[in-house]
Amino acid sequence: MKKIQMVDLQTQYEHIKADIDRGIAEVIANAQFIKGPQVSAFQQHLEQYTGAKHVIPVGNGTDALQIALMALGLKPGDEVITPTFTFIATAEVVALLGLTPVVVDVDWDTMNISVDAIRKAITPRTKAIVPVHLFGQCADMEEILAIAKEHHLYVVEDGCQAIGAKYTFSDGTVKQACTMGEIGCTSFFPSKNLGCYGDGGALFTDNDELAAHIRAIANHGMVVRYHHDEVGVNSRLDSIQAAVLDAKLPHLDEYIAARQHAAARYDKAFGNREDMLVPGRNAHSTHVFHQYTLRIVGRDRDELKQRLADKEIPAMVYYPVPLHMQKAYQDPRYKQGDFPVAERLASCVLSLPMHTELTEEQLDYIIHAVID
Ligand SMILES: *Cc1c(COP(=O)(O)O)cnc(C)c1O
Repeated sequence: MKKIQMVDLQTQYEHIKADIDRGIAEVIANAQFIKGPQVSAFQQHLEQYTGAKHVIPVGNGTDALQIALMALGLKPGDEVITPTFTFIATAEVVALLGLTPVVVDVDWDTMNISVDAIRKAITPRTKAIVPVHLFGQCADMEEILAIAKEHHLYVVEDGCQAIGAKYTFSDGTVKQACTMGEIGCTSFFPSKNLGCYGDGGALFTDNDELAAHIRAIANHGMVVRYHHDEVGVNSRLDSIQAAVLDAKLPHLDEYIAARQHAAARYDKAFGNREDMLVPGRNAHSTHVFHQYTLRIVGRDRDELKQRLADKEIPAMVYYPVPLHMQKAYQDPRYKQGDFPVAERLASCVLSLPMHTELTEEQLDYIIHAVID
């Protein structure tokens, strides 16, 4: 049996090697490493795949979030609501722009931002909500969009872990992650569900004006060459990464199916246990399982992680420290105990190996080891 990894990008590459190699070779042959035809081809294909009117490729997912908040014209002091149980990037860009991150608790079952907590956190200074579609499942977008409408707030989706996830609204409309808010953001970090071989990211919007503004900000605040209308950044997807992504995009649905298959095996094996809870589902959203995350209750999570490591099974804690407990984000408004669900999750979550290349033999081995 092949060594089990959290993510197996080598085996995935072996299956699509011819396409990837050809795509990269074409970039090198025509030497348009920046803004090559591969970038616009991938952009168009991703627009078709997601149904977004505009896709704007950028350098990484964190840049996408930052550029989104810049494009919305948020000003220092404006409050942005985001979950406290997530990767740091969301709050980081809010803080870097001089905006005020307002963190809120999450739901125990879905581990996504709590709608009730959002409602309670709204003040006259609130300008935007940044829900994170954590681990590959959409947040409660129908309710979040309704709250935003009622209070005239922007919604920027952090869809870095959820590309391809679908959300069904109560009127039957189905939309993809990243295409529901004013702006959606994703990351093509190698281990993400659609990952390149370096850094990459993208923004999504249906708004023509916003799309033009986003493009300008990502390009040094420039529309006419060497004329800078506002302070921007330099953030772009390079042609080699676009070629890799364009070769992988046609496989995204089959990759999602492979992740869902592994998740179904885990669900079946652990679904009836009381000492480990399988990921709770939001009935409106599909789950694309960027991570398969158990909640280990009534026993020691770290001991289980170590015992799995002894059997050469990697398992990871995403995320061990909620935002409000991070040193860089200490804030007199928040103290330990303020967000009990997030704090409990941080102490009990354990993500199992999850990728597109897990074999039945590997899944059997992992499942038996966890149960042992
Ligand atoms: C990966 C990730 C990001 C950042 O993406 P990068 O491309 O690494 O900058 C932001 N938010 C979430 C939830 C992520 O998982």
